[in-house]
Amino acid sequence: MTKRVTILGATGSVGSSTLDLIERAPESFEVVALTANRDVDKLAAAAIRTRARLAVVADESCLAALRDALAGSGVEARAGAEAVCEAARAGVDWTMAAIVGTAGLKPVMAALEAGGTVALANKEALVSAGEVMMAVARAHATTLLPVDSEHNAVFQCLDRTAPKGVRKIILTASGGPFRNTPLEAMRAITPAQAVAHPNWSMGAKISIDSATMMNKGLELIEAFHLFPVDSEQLDILVHAQSVVHSMVEYVDGSVLAQLGTPDMRTPIAYALAWPERMPTPCERLDLAKVGRLDFEAADPVRFPALTLARDALAAGGARPAILNAANEVAVAAFLAGRVAFLEIAAIVADTLARYDPAAPDSLDAVLAIDAEARAYAAERVKDCVL
Ligand code: NAD
Ligand code: MG
Repeated sequence: MTKRVTILGATGSVGSSTLDLIERAPESFEVVALTANRDVDKLAAAAIRTRARLAVVADESCLAALRDALAGSGVEARAGAEAVCEAARAGVDWTMAAIVGTAGLKPVMAALEAGGTVALANKEALVSAGEVMMAVARAHATTLLPVDSEHNAVFQCLDRTAPKGVRKIILTASGGPFRNTPLEAMRAITPAQAVAHPNWSMGAKISIDSATMMNKGLELIEAFHLFPVDSEQLDILVHAQSVVHSMVEYVDGSVLAQLGTPDMRTPIAYALAWPERMPTPCERLDLAKVGRLDFEAADPVRFPALTLARDALAAGGARPAILNAANEVAVAAFLAGRVAFLEIAAIVADTLARYDPAAPDSLDAVLAIDAEARAYAAERVKDCVL
């Protein structure tokens, strides 16, 4: 039976890996809709190749170019944030949520309301609106499958017959490109140095998050919402080789881990085929070649984002949404050359210190907090001189 699929964020790193797998198994998948922000050429080419029904750009100024690129192909062209949500609402069997940032929040909520299976890469949505999102998934009996490699690993290792048997979830972290960089040298880090991840090839925003280790902080909050554990049961362990993708420790002392080469197509394929498995062209893990696996504790002094995220998770309420919004603003400012690397965590800390609204109880409340936190963070960015 073919699965009808939609990819939100089809032109990005995760979106492209998803398309790669789907195009290798055309008999198994029918592409309904593909969306992107403004990368018209890449979106149109993918829509034509996969014979998608619909292609959507979020940026309305790109509609004419998209129409031109799709002329004569039979693929419908649409534009605007609402059109992205409508594409997410199309009622397919499987939706990949791979938009970056809280820009993906409304579309992912639309997909969760439409039902079926939602494969979640867009961690920022869950960090900002975890309670609201999980409630909608439950209410609509939507299956939410984690694509983030750590959470996918945990999902694979969880013994669902004995949820009370879990003692700890251990998220592994590569430590990013500056795992061993002294604090002094971190002051002068450039965007080009920071986006160059040692193990994974990813979009710019998550690459910077890996470099500050905010990515692991966001992943703590993501794991809290996805799995039946308290925040104190979540641990982080630095593992530079990115071979062990995460672990679950049980009360009897058993520790289950999922291993593989660092290629996002493995967790994406798991979510695409679930509850079955499908083959991928990923390089096979050769442990004899890897030779040894190293683990070490994370350094909260050089990576203050870890403590900020842990505190936000422990406090709950609006704190995770503020953490995420301020981080998105700070990372964009760093990538634009407007703030220094070490300012990213400082901007997040100051935004959290200045803004403390009540806990959000709806999607609109989350979006209002997100917007307000961005305004505070943007003010703080203006104070930075490079
Ligand atoms: P990316 O920057 O490569 O791609 C982002 C996609 O979102 C693109 O298709 C872009 O057009 C679209 N987009 C951007 N802004 C948008 C907007 N305002 N409205 C609609 N669409 C918009 O990012 P990525 O690396 O593929 O990451 C996507 C998500 O997956 C992120 O949340 C990231 O944290 C998560 N993730 C990525 C990886 C990875 O290996 N890249 C691994 C784990 C999790
Ligand atoms: Mg991850």
